[in-house]
Amino acid sequence: MAIEFSERIRRIPTYPAAGGYAQQEPLVRLASNESPFEPLPAVRAAIDRALSSLNRYPDPTNSLLRRRLSERYGVPAERIAIGNGSCDILLAAGEALLEPGAEVLYAWPSFSVYPHLAAASGARAVTVGLDERECHDLEAMARELTVATRLVLVCNPNNPTSTAIPLADIAAFLQEVPPHVCVILDEAYCEFNLLEDPDASIELLDAHPNLALLRTFSKVHGLCGLRVGFALCGSAELPPALDQVRQPFFCNALAQAAALEALEHQDTVEERVARTVAERISMDERLRALGLRAADSQANFCWVQLGEERDEEEIMRGLAERGVLVRAGSALGSPTPALRVTYGLPEENRRFLDALAEVLEPAATR
Ligand SMILES: *Cc1c(COP(=O)(O)O)cnc(C)c1O
Repeated sequence: MAIEFSERIRRIPTYPAAGGYAQQEPLVRLASNESPFEPLPAVRAAIDRALSSLNRYPDPTNSLLRRRLSERYGVPAERIAIGNGSCDILLAAGEALLEPGAEVLYAWPSFSVYPHLAAASGARAVTVGLDERECHDLEAMARELTVATRLVLVCNPNNPTSTAIPLADIAAFLQEVPPHVCVILDEAYCEFNLLEDPDASIELLDAHPNLALLRTFSKVHGLCGLRVGFALCGSAELPPALDQVRQPFFCNALAQAAALEALEHQDTVEERVARTVAERISMDERLRALGLRAADSQANFCWVQLGEERDEEEIMRGLAERGVLVRAGSALGSPTPALRVTYGLPEENRRFLDALAEVLEPAATR
């Protein structure tokens, strides 16, 4: 007899996992917006020191990490939530805020975890298309606010399209949102955004207690293998509600230790951002030389339109055969053939571009 599952299991979409995890040979992994840089020696040392107390549960209140984040960002510790990755905070927000009859509003295409929130809670997902530059259309989103709206998700810079919108536009949008509606500004890639000081959005928290800024150690800090993220919140009401719907000890001891140490290395973060931005500029030029256009990236990845006549699946296959893993746009909600490509090390990017040139050749020469 087949197992009988709950109704939500039929609703919840499966997260589009990247391929290649079972492969042994060296691959160019540009599919998950990871950092190409290895963990810092000091972070590895901190993890090493934490190993000897793995017989103890981690601090369930993440007190040291929240205190250090509070010092770093100037937000009181009681307004900081920690997560087992920032996805954990997103899913907890869905559980704490949504229910049947409520609405969650977000742009699409955007982060592939967002549809999970409505599906898991039974709330209605209201999605708004991006504008012609593949940016959030906040004016159109404001028009979709209703009495049922409980949660708004704004991803800036946006995954998968890499584009960012000016903070002034976000500030204007927040004026339109009623104060009882929670707004999560997902800033997983904010350190790579050259349009804005990554810390400028923190000032919005004073005027908007309903706002939460979602940050992560997974991207610029390169610790996605450990799973740790955080939210800087406008109100002290949100963090305990997020904790209420989760298991205790959601952030493991090694993750807490590593995150604490990572915060001490702002200089390295800036150096790595500079190296990524250099690759961003160079990759943009070389894609254009191939006759392709990427959206205006403010992140550690690019979003490349392949053109209507091209076969996205065939291009993905051709790249994979050459040992290069990227993401297919169609799996991330793109209505047109597209690729999402993480900027890797210079050598990895060169391998991607060489492989892409080979794969495109038949169409390009005709
Ligand atoms: C990668 C990413 C995250 C971070 O996920 P973690 O759970 O912190 O690893 C959050 N939001 C967006 C838009 C992302 O792309």
